[in-house]
Amino acid sequence: MIYTGGTIGMVKDYNSGTLKPFNFKKLEKHIPELGQLDCHIDPVSFKDPIDSSNMNSDHWVIIAELIESHYDTHDGFVVLHGSDTMSYTASALSYMLENLSKPVIFTGSQLPIGDLRTDAKENLITAIQIASLSKKESPLIREVCLYFEYKLYRANRTTKINAEHFEAFASLNYPALAESGVHLKVYEENLIKTNTRKKLKVRTQMDTNVAILKLFPGLSENIFRSVLTAPNLKALILETYGAGNAPTEEWLVSELKDAIKKGIHIINVTQCSGGSVIMGQYETSQQLKKLRIINGKNITTEAAITKLMYLLGSGVPSKLFKTVFETSLRGEMD
Ligand code: ASP
Repeated sequence: MIYTGGTIGMVKDYNSGTLKPFNFKKLEKHIPELGQLDCHIDPVSFKDPIDSSNMNSDHWVIIAELIESHYDTHDGFVVLHGSDTMSYTASALSYMLENLSKPVIFTGSQLPIGDLRTDAKENLITAIQIASLSKKESPLIREVCLYFEYKLYRANRTTKINAEHFEAFASLNYPALAESGVHLKVYEENLIKTNTRKKLKVRTQMDTNVAILKLFPGLSENIFRSVLTAPNLKALILETYGAGNAPTEEWLVSELKDAIKKGIHIINVTQCSGGSVIMGQYETSQQLKKLRIINGKNITTEAAITKLMYLLGSGVPSKLFKTVFETSLRGEMD
């Protein structure tokens, strides 16, 4: 169990009234039920637990390396993480942990563990149970998942959709992997089937020379150009409307053309939380198709931006970049 921070382990600072991370030892003190679980838990904590708004790719590497160094001795991993950027971290880890054949379950909570009405206990206890599930003496789940409010999802399909409800996450383009009610039901047909004979490879090179630009009516040419000509930019997620549509104005097309000529990869990802980019369905995406912009299909923005960092970090050659991005690597797109 890796504790990175987040509300799950926070307490109220009575001077400032804000929520701040606290010592991991107290987390165990708050859930004595952990002792009743039918598995042995080794807790590891970030030296300085953080609010997940402060997460970056260096923290992802720490998590990946912790998993790597405990991989042979442990059956499964639970990562306690703030919910704000959990989908980003969990998506990133799904790429970084190549040939994963054990469960890595991210969870957190909307209310601190010490709160009377907390959702932390159920999330944590069930996440641990899921991480220890086995079938014929080998792990049942072999992928990076996110467990929150009675549902287990493929992590790289999730998005945080609510800052208030206990049901904070959704996976609109892929069904749940498991549901917890009176019984814990695992939908095995939805799980990734991996080749277990391959050894885990941990990829820690993540290139952060990437950006996300969300289209909106009224976006000006100057602003658009300044993003596309930002120094060191290597790839951009263009968050388009609906099924991957964008304004057909000439300046926009010509700015995109210039960027592509310079070797910048442009990915078409829809602003909608559900559904897919279908370039060419409407006249307003025909121009993007002609430019051979990369099709993000039904990938989430979180899974797309982290996939970019991973592919650029792995040195995928420019010529192959479009084909590799459009291929599902960890079940992140159809
Ligand atoms: N701000 C917190 C975080 O993401 C919220 C949470 O944990 O749910 O770290």
